[in-house]
Amino acid sequence: MGEPKKILSIEDNPANRKIIFDLLTIRGYKVIEAVDGKEGLDKLKVEIPDLVLTDIQLPVMDGLKVTKAIREDPDPRINKLPIIIVTSYAMSGDALKGQEAGCNAYLTKPYNFKLLLETVGKLVETCPPAGREDK
Ligand code: MN
Repeated sequence: MGEPKKILSIEDNPANRKIIFDLLTIRGYKVIEAVDGKEGLDKLKVEIPDLVLTDIQLPVMDGLKVTKAIREDPDPRINKLPIIIVTSYAMSGDALKGQEAGCNAYLTKPYNFKLLLETVGKLVETCPPAGREDK
């Protein structure tokens, strides 16, 4: 039993935030929560997670900007983090915008829990943060 994988969940909607927290906590992940993009970036620097799961539509700073800021961070432990973007607006071109911003995966609401867990599981295993790759 190693350390639990840490997931930063950035979601402004309290009901959705609780769903994500419960779903991932039950599966053994440690969930760190943030309610807007700015808080997400701040928390990420205090405790670097293994994966970032972010809503796109967020107050203060949206999920696309969060993704870009992570990819542009000079710290390789941060700029290589796996990122999953979630949006409610499947038809708005968010998938393409998410890819351009540098996310690893893109999901739509309402959540498909099986797909969400599969995507999280795959990315936390296949995208080790830089610096741990050669161990
Ligand atoms: Mn939102």
